[in-house]
Amino acid sequence: MTDKIITRFPPSPTGYLHLGGARTALFNWLYARHTGGRFVLRIEDTDTQRSTQASVDAIFEALEWLGIDWDEGPFFQSERIDVYRENIRRLVETGHAYYCTCSPDRLEQMRKSAMESGGKPKYDGTCREKGLGPGPGSVIRFKAPLDGTTVVADRIRGHIVFQNSELDDFVIARSDGMPTYNLAVVVDDITMKINTIIRGDDHISNTPKQIQLYQALGAELPVFGHVPMVLGHDRTRLSKRHGAMSVTAYRDMGYHPDAMINFLVRLGWSHGDQEFFTRDELIEKFNLEHIGKSAGVFNPEKLLALNAEHIRAASEASLAPHLIPFLQNTGITVKPGDDLNGVIKTLKPRSKTFAEMADAAAFYFAETVVYDEAAAKKFLTPAIAGPLRQIVDALKQAENFDEATLEAIFTKILADSGLKFGKIAQPVRVALTGKTVSPGIFEMIEVLGKQKTLSRLEQAYAFVTVSAAGEENLT
Ligand code: GLU
Repeated sequence: MTDKIITRFPPSPTGYLHLGGARTALFNWLYARHTGGRFVLRIEDTDTQRSTQASVDAIFEALEWLGIDWDEGPFFQSERIDVYRENIRRLVETGHAYYCTCSPDRLEQMRKSAMESGGKPKYDGTCREKGLGPGPGSVIRFKAPLDGTTVVADRIRGHIVFQNSELDDFVIARSDGMPTYNLAVVVDDITMKINTIIRGDDHISNTPKQIQLYQALGAELPVFGHVPMVLGHDRTRLSKRHGAMSVTAYRDMGYHPDAMINFLVRLGWSHGDQEFFTRDELIEKFNLEHIGKSAGVFNPEKLLALNAEHIRAASEASLAPHLIPFLQNTGITVKPGDDLNGVIKTLKPRSKTFAEMADAAAFYFAETVVYDEAAAKKFLTPAIAGPLRQIVDALKQAENFDEATLEAIFTKILADSGLKFGKIAQPVRVALTGKTVSPGIFEMIEVLGKQKTLSRLEQAYAFVTVSAAGEENLT
């Protein structure tokens, strides 16, 4: 039996969760879910200057919104310092690491002269064979192999060969004893039994160093896969210039988390030419084979279109909790008797975001209808008073208020009056919503219910008869 896949997401809490980070989390989560493996969340907060609790909270909030759940953790690196120290000690004891007392000035000089001679800045190994012990100001360096190669067998990019002569004795513990990123990551990934690491290719230069640490610690290598960075439409690295970067900004603009997930996954993974995926479908289909080698390009119009599609595909009941905060933002409180599912049903074919849906829903909940001036002028005219009266009277008698009954009532009135449907549909629409654009008349009336419909039609009848009287007085 093969081992379970164990993946991880290890964000540094130095800001919100951005789209690139969310995509990394998603790929690792999907791969764990697809294979029936485990997904570990680890907060890499050893940089105490830049890590904040607010960022930790923002990361949790974004993952929860996306529905990315974890099986282990959250682990905090800041609480694992002893584990790193223990491994650093082991590396020194086994001759894989050494103390170095070179001053920052010396290192700076080394860097400068390397730059001047056009070479790569590299530690020159001054303390490598000195056998120094601990002392104030000294760091610990990894004793990296001087020749040969280190090969990253990347699942996405193929074999990447690094010449060891190009790499150097990197620092694994700072002078205050704190571990560096490469050391902490490797120790964690080994102790947390991570066997698959999918991350952005901005980390590729760290990978040979990490592989050398695995080897020095006698641990088995995980599978690595480096995903190309996400680009903006101008093919530069995605940044704020291209649109909101924070995942939760999209929640606040009215996006559905399933649409966001669908969008993110397509920034680097494909399944034939399929564009729309439900969450379950992604879990079923996601694999490492189809992560692309070329960078995904962020396209906000595509996200919007996917959002509209996900809203259309979801059930009314599942959309309600997403919509409610947007209704609240527009001052609407949904009351127990309100047919929110009905409201959603009429609006979901025509809403690209929850913000749009909430705006469009406002008329259902309003106490009184405020007419759009041009709409009222054009459609609520004295000529409509008669048919409006007939409609009100017929609807009063109606026992059922379903679409079929309503349609029959209207058909009869149209036949009696000789009017075309369009001639009364627009006035009725303005009477009920104040606007000329709305869901279909019958489905809307069914959701509005008898009482609201009648009172709005009466209000419109009063409006047209008063304006008719006004006109008569003028003549
Ligand atoms: N904390 C690192 C980051 O946020 C994680 C790197 C890794 O995946 O190894 O970039």
